[in-house]
Amino acid sequence: MEKINLDWANIGFGYHQTAKRYVANYKDGAWDEGGLTDDANITMSECACVLQYAQTCFEGLKAYTAENGSIVAFRPDLNAERMANTAARLEMPVFPKERFLEAVDQVVLANEAYVPPYGSGATLYLRPFMFGIGPVIGVAPATEYQFRTFATPVGPYFKGGAKPIVIRVSDLDRAAPRGTGDIKAGLNYAMSLRNIVEAHDAGYAENMYLDPQSRTKVEETGGANFIFVTKDGKVVTPKSNSILPSITRRSLVALAKDYLGLEVEEREVYLDEVPDFAECGLCGTAAVISPVGKIDDHGKEICFPSGMEKMGEITQKLYDTLTGMQMGRIEAPEGWIRVIKE
Ligand SMILES: *Cc1c(COP(=O)(O)O)cnc(C)c1O
Repeated sequence: MEKINLDWANIGFGYHQTAKRYVANYKDGAWDEGGLTDDANITMSECACVLQYAQTCFEGLKAYTAENGSIVAFRPDLNAERMANTAARLEMPVFPKERFLEAVDQVVLANEAYVPPYGSGATLYLRPFMFGIGPVIGVAPATEYQFRTFATPVGPYFKGGAKPIVIRVSDLDRAAPRGTGDIKAGLNYAMSLRNIVEAHDAGYAENMYLDPQSRTKVEETGGANFIFVTKDGKVVTPKSNSILPSITRRSLVALAKDYLGLEVEEREVYLDEVPDFAECGLCGTAAVISPVGKIDDHGKEICFPSGMEKMGEITQKLYDTLTGMQMGRIEAPEGWIRVIKE
């Protein structure tokens, strides 16, 4: 397969239109057959539920060229399950898991020319999403929906190695205790845009959100879960009903225990105890782990001993093991790697 001529190392993390995307429509209580299309645009009613009441949700995952040349995706079944949970919470129909996986396969195969080569650091990012396309004016769920999956090649998240970032403790909240923080809904991002723009303007890479009820416990950032490492090498990750269940974080927790023999605690994490940790990282599909070097809590700086030059030692081990599995250099647990093309 002839690859598209792209400067893989420098494409960045942006939308780059590819040849084909998958579309399925839901009407009269059923999904149609669905299939690939060349059309990257969507035409809909001005009164579509997504436009009026933000009835939309999404997923994000990547396809890679593994070391042996095969094209694989990392745990797409968990994306399908998470999207089903999100859809249910938003009164949307579930797009069946087997069909979700089939859509991922079809989009990757149809855009094989855009799957970056092994070793380039770039990947093919996949964006499955679903939205209420039927018109509503009184507040109600739509009766018609569209599910889509498109692909866009993305460059290496960190050019020239992962440099630790500086984040700040946010004054605004992300998710109410019985709200929608645990689902991947567009609405959770719309309300975070102002806060992320302000954080960037002030020189911070991300916002650390606290639990809105007591404002004493660490939740997550706008788009990634936290992992911490204690001085005696234990992995600690916050537990809360209002954080998004990151597939990266769940995978890191599993491999920390089973591959690296580390102790892992999933529990409430108080902001007060953060200065005692040795390492901190943000985990999500985009970067796998972004090391955090410093957290600014309203002028009070929390500086991790791992410093501002490189990832902490255990964070690096977690990162190397997970990316090794994704790229096929390390054998992954059963079912973690979906081979799309041998
Ligand atoms: C998508 C997302 C994450 C990361 O989840 P992954 O499955 O690891 O990509 C974390 N937090 C939020 C709020 C998210 O939307």
